[in-house]
Amino acid sequence: MQRVIRCDCGFEATGISDDDLVPVAQAHASAAHDIKLSADLLLALARPHPGPATPTKQET
Ligand SMILES: [Zn+2]
Repeated sequence: MQRVIRCDCGFEATGISDDDLVPVAQAHASAAHDIKLSADLLLALARPHPGPATPTKQET
């Protein structure tokens, strides 16, 4: 199943496998936000690629 990692800035990394997702998300975090995220953290943020409305509540 496809999975997606969403960044607070609106960026989305999608991949068929976690091995695809993590490097993409790490590259984004590094390039866009100058931060390094661990694979563990990113995998914790990954969720199934949304079909219809998947409400997300994540506000800081
Ligand atoms: Zn971002």
